[in-house]
Order: sequence, then structure tokens, then C-alpha cells
Amino acid sequence: MSEQQNIRFSDAFFVKSAAKLAQCPNEILSEVAFAGRSNAGKSSALNCLTENRKLARTSKTPGRTQLINYFQLGEAPLALVDLPGYGFAKVPVAMKNAWQKELAGYLEKREALCGLVLLMDIRHPLKEFDEAMLQWAADSEMPVHILLTKADKLKRGPAKSTLLKVRKATARKDGGVSVQVFSSLSGDGLPELRKVLRAWLLPQPDTQDSEKGTNSEPNPGKETSGDGF
Ligand code: GDP
Repeated sequence: MSEQQNIRFSDAFFVKSAAKLAQCPNEILSEVAFAGRSNAGKSSALNCLTENRKLARTSKTPGRTQLINYFQLGEAPLALVDLPGYGFAKVPVAMKNAWQKELAGYLEKREALCGLVLLMDIRHPLKEFDEAMLQWAADSEMPVHILLTKADKLKRGPAKSTLLKVRKATARKDGGVSVQVFSSLSGDGLPELRKVLRAWLLPQPDTQDSEKGTNSEPNPGKETSGDGF
């Protein structure tokens, strides 16, 4: 691994909450957004990734739940972005529409955005919100890495079969979608996730082609990554 690829995820710190695209920080040049329905395990995954149990609490602070939360990775102009999901039932329709508009604007127009991590509870994948996110990403040709979270809740066989089913259902012609199983509880899948994030945030000129990914393996490369089994 080259020196450049050495992102330290544990250096992540909260920088700001943006209510709309125009408020997103200019100093961030590359970012990866994390999205998921409420309870998908996004806060737990971000905390696991950054080895900071308090990090993603920010996004759950009342009043901040409709915002785009930025976590910068140390001194580098790189960030993880927490796009708060919400339970559709709890949100008034007007707020839901306004937030969807901001979210769509962010996904389609934010230049620093280089990839989307979409989290789904492995027991409840591909709900309406997930399909909408996948559609936006496909329209924008944005790479997506799907985390099937809480994998520790399923046995190996059912987990593998969900993985295969989701891979098949989300396959994109440009190979822009990859899928893995993940557990914040056990840390299963963490190296695979970090590898994808490094490849997106710090692409190496000579590996660009292999980083586009295929639907059968995580985006950055086939040789060392498995399915988490
Ligand atoms: P968020 O709403 O998407 O941020 O979801 P949270 O990270 O708050 O997780 C929702 C619930 O799922 C909490 O009770 C977590 O403890 C639980 N959870 C999250 N990740 C895992 C996991 O990997 N395994 C298990 N067993 N539970 C998890």
C-alpha cells in the first residue's frame, strides 16, 4: 500500500452540519456520504469505522437530524458525510419533501462527492428509501457501496443468500455498485469497507480502471477482498 493511501479513519472529527448544498464546506475536496433508513445501523457503522463511540451522536442531536453532517479526516481535505435517514412515518410530509429535495440536490450537484455508502439492515434490504437512493445514484453515475448491516443477526447461509440477492438486484451496467456484509458489533467487513473508502477518497492514477468495480466484488479490487465469509 502506498504512503498516500494511509487515511486514518480514527482522526475523524465533526466539522459542521449543513442544511443545504450551499452550506457544504468548500475546503473539503473529496467526500463519501453515508445514507440509510433510520435504525439501519449507520451511527454504529460510522463509530466502528472511526473507532469513536461518540462520533455519530452529533447527527442524532435534536434539531440536527435533517442536516448533512461533516466529519473531516484529520488535516486532509477529505470527509465522511452523514446523511441522516429518517423513519418516513414520523416525519411530516412537508418536511419529508423539503429534505428529499435537499438530498437530491446534494447527491446530484456536490462536486466533492465521490461515492455513496448505502446501509441496509441485512434482514430488511431494498426498501423504498434504498431504491430511491439507488436510482439517484444511477442517474448521477455515482458509485455505491452497499453495507448489509447487523450481519451477526443472521446465520452464514441466509446472510450469504441475501448478499447474492442484493448484488443481483442492484447490478448496474457501469459496474458502479458493490455489496458486502457488515457488523459493527463484531467488526466483520471493516477492512473491506476501509479499502473501498480509501480507493474512492485517494484514487491512484494507475489503478483507476480496477477501482470502478464490478457488482460481484467491492469496488477497489478483487484479489484480497472476500464476502466476509
Ligand atoms: P442508525 O439509526 O442507522 O444510526 O442506527 P444505529 O447505529 O443507532 O443502530 C440502530 C440499532 O441497531 C441500535 O440498537 C444498535 O445497537 C443496533 N445495531 C447497529 N449495528 C449493529 C450490528 O452490527 N449488530 C447488531 N446486533 N446490532 C446493531
